Amino acid sequence: MTEETILTDDRKILSGVRVIDPVNRIEGLFDVAVEGGTVASMEPASGNGSGLWLIPGVVDMHVHLRIPGGENSETLETGLKAAVAGGVTRVGMMPNTTPALDTPEAVSEVTARGNSLGLALIHPVPAVTMGRKGIECTDFEAFSSMGITCFSDDGSPVMNDSSLAEAFKRLAPLNGVVIEHPEVVELAAGGAVNLGEASNLTGAKGIPEEAEYRDVERCIRILGESGTGCRLHLTHLSSPESVRLVAQAASEGLPVTCDVTPHHIALEETELLRKGTLAKMNPPLRSEESRRKLVSMAASGMVSAVASDHAPHHRSKKDCLIQDAAFGITGLETLLPITVDKLVNGASMSLMEVVAMLTSAPASVLGITIPGITAGEPAEMVLFDPDEKWTFTDSLSLSGNSPFLNTELRGKVLSVWRGRELYREGQFV
Ligand SMILES: [Zn+2]
Repeated sequence: MTEETILTDDRKILSGVRVIDPVNRIEGLFDVAVEGGTVASMEPASGNGSGLWLIPGVVDMHVHLRIPGGENSETLETGLKAAVAGGVTRVGMMPNTTPALDTPEAVSEVTARGNSLGLALIHPVPAVTMGRKGIECTDFEAFSSMGITCFSDDGSPVMNDSSLAEAFKRLAPLNGVVIEHPEVVELAAGGAVNLGEASNLTGAKGIPEEAEYRDVERCIRILGESGTGCRLHLTHLSSPESVRLVAQAASEGLPVTCDVTPHHIALEETELLRKGTLAKMNPPLRSEESRRKLVSMAASGMVSAVASDHAPHHRSKKDCLIQDAAFGITGLETLLPITVDKLVNGASMSLMEVVAMLTSAPASVLGITIPGITAGEPAEMVLFDPDEKWTFTDSLSLSGNSPFLNTELRGKVLSVWRGRELYREGQFV
């Protein structure tokens, strides 16, 4: 039996696929019919199946689309095409643009423009404070009336304790979330790489893990003192101590969650010697010991989501010395295969747990509902071959500054639907 039978342009049967759907808590082998952009039927399949997975569209909650102001690094079309090619159907759009996305008007304009492209859907994450300056909070109530409940000053931490406390107080009744980019700016100032082997080898100034976890500590303290019960999400954690602090706060009843990136669980600091500025990001790649701890903490359930921190940069900002290069790498196209490879193949996590970290868990932080894979629901899903090996060569991002370029990866996106089928075998449909 062929693994996929095309009957007409509009009706397709996916035979013997392993459905892994954390939205409906369904896992098993099914024959799935897709028709007119909808899951038409889903029947249990017998035999060993095709070896392919069918999972909900990936939600990448941490994406820099660079609009407005960064059009030479990414456009809405290139960013959202890179998303779809990676199996990502929803992106959390970060606000550290020029100017910052801090008003309902600016956020609506970019979101509407991106969503009119019919690719991945944008879910904006507006700034916590005006201009991301840490002084005056944005109009959370107005954003909330637009269905937006998740805010971040990403690129920077929320600078002032009093602004963060005010954000918790005003967001709690809106069931809002602060996504914190944890960094003590004074401890990281002037740094380019991890403090340790990377700073020794490159001569660039080091950034200690403490620069991250001291801010995690600060945010948790302010949240506790606020007594608001507001949700707090710590993003792109690179230090095991940060994850430990989050888990401890959660065990004490605070609604605190966190994510890690694929690069922090896949790579360690000496990657800089091989990939140069393509391995420079903030927070930096850490030691092999920290990387291993991060993976095992994720495997033990202490990390709720994985997000790419997709950060495109024009070539001119990477073709320079490590000390001078911009922080950040692209990641939309490699999020799914690397996460699966490191956490399923590498750390024996269950398929359901890992798919949840890429779909339902980040959706819950963003405050959005996503369809699972059920008969009668819109088809928003990814057909994925977990074993296919391929080399990532041509990025669809306008920048494509990825340390995984020209690297063999395991696990490939075959088809992506959001309503209709958007992408099949490397081509947009
Ligand atoms: Zn950040």
